[in-house]
Amino acid sequence: MTQSNKKKKWEQILPGGNLDQAGYSKNYHTGDWRNQIPVLDKSKCENCLTCVGFCPEDCILVKEGKISHVDYKYCKGCGICAKECPMKAITMKQQK
Ligand code: SF4
Ligand code: SF4
Repeated sequence: MTQSNKKKKWEQILPGGNLDQAGYSKNYHTGDWRNQIPVLDKSKCENCLTCVGFCPEDCILVKEGKISHVDYKYCKGCGICAKECPMKAITMKQQK
């Protein structure tokens, strides 16, 4: 519940699933959930960017057409990038 919702009567609170502002997911650091971490082997990466498209958190960052880095503040460790990488360039490791 947001601070503003605490001041509202129940009739004034938005039904679940409705968003009252754009872009607020940036406030939720989904990386806090992670117990596994993707590690990129740049020697195997062909910069096909498949992992970028599959990442549900949009946290694999690209610079000048190449993988730059993973923003671990938002990477939740789901492993989809590692599963989808055709070059097996990403390995999931235990978070320390
Ligand atoms: S899917 Fe694999 S090969 Fe393609 S950009 Fe990502 S890490 Fe590199
Ligand atoms: S582990 Fe999941 S959230 Fe993290 S970079 Fe890979 S696809 Fe994105």
